[in-house]
Amino acid sequence: MTSMVPFFEKSRAWIELDMTALQHNISMLYAQLPKGCTLMPVVKANAYGHGSVLIAQELNRSGIRAFCVATVAEAVELREHGITGEILILGYTHPQQFDLLLQYNLTQTVINYEYAQMLNTIGQPIPVHIAVDTGMNRLGESWKHYDRILTIFQMHNLRVTGIFTHLCADDSMKSESQTFTQKQAAFFQSLMNQLHAHGYFPKAHSLDSYGLLNYSQFGGAYARVGIALYGVLSNYEDLSICPVPLYPVLSVKARVVLTKEIHAGENVGYGLAYTAKQDKRLALIAIGYADGVPRCLSCGNGDVLINGQSAPIVGQICMDQMTVDISNIPNVHSGDIAVILGKSGNREITAYDLAEKCGTITNELLSRFGSRLIRTLK
Ligand SMILES: *Cc1c(COP(=O)(O)O)cnc(C)c1O
Repeated sequence: MTSMVPFFEKSRAWIELDMTALQHNISMLYAQLPKGCTLMPVVKANAYGHGSVLIAQELNRSGIRAFCVATVAEAVELREHGITGEILILGYTHPQQFDLLLQYNLTQTVINYEYAQMLNTIGQPIPVHIAVDTGMNRLGESWKHYDRILTIFQMHNLRVTGIFTHLCADDSMKSESQTFTQKQAAFFQSLMNQLHAHGYFPKAHSLDSYGLLNYSQFGGAYARVGIALYGVLSNYEDLSICPVPLYPVLSVKARVVLTKEIHAGENVGYGLAYTAKQDKRLALIAIGYADGVPRCLSCGNGDVLINGQSAPIVGQICMDQMTVDISNIPNVHSGDIAVILGKSGNREITAYDLAEKCGTITNELLSRFGSRLIRTLK
């Protein structure tokens, strides 16, 4: 596997991928699919921090033949690593890069009518999915513009193989959100009816993770599942509506660099943010915010697990390292493993714990685990 670096694996700070958990999630999500629908996993943003090549290779091996990414560079990276099947670019590709679409056999999203006209000038038929805006007001040609969308189907150099919309309130079962989501689905369906009446039958899709879990009755040819595939939902509360158990795929670990004792009154780290009230034993950990550990976990807001016990973060997290309090954990040594996200002994720090402490969703937390972490299999 080209993206594995065995000599440096588990040396400083790393991500461990649990492919058994990934396989479990795939089978759970398969079981939720409406009839005629298949998974089109979303591996954008380096597969939400997990490592898009490793994840897509595993998915390819388990028979998955369609992927979504956000950018043309992400798609090219997958192809360069041998990923086969359809790769749909969900976002904007600059006209200067249109030739890459052909070169790497990629499917581009038509983000609106004007963009379709630009794509149509490439000079060779190019596979596209049309994004339809049904109320999110992000990407997409408006569902109201049947005529324009029909014209896109007639453009000579576009091969429209799919059409999709994005549900933007499908994560909430509040009645207001349900009404909105039902409307989005109805708008999309009315457009589809028009297209069918004109003899066009592209593969239609609207379900993302929450769509699949909450609205599988909408059907479609694909479910564009991201976060759920990685074994978490965006928010902890949403677990209560999740019909299937999902297992987290990613753990983050780092080495203890050194341990030391400090006396009451001494400081730790930048800005005198921490002053010891009593004598303390500390461990320096070889991971920092440049690796994706949110800096807002500083100063005791977060902790790590060492030998199954909690070690609170002391002072400000630095770019490449951070300090934790090990006064209550015996026998910690240089080279020991600290768990930043994942299990240690009977304890676990979940993506929900960290996201909640930082006022964000797990999607942001996970996708920020950066390029410097080595990705390895559990
Ligand atoms: C990111 C994205 C998805 C995946 O969303 P999840 O909530 O992670 O499942 C699906 N569709 C589009 C258009 C997206 O941008």
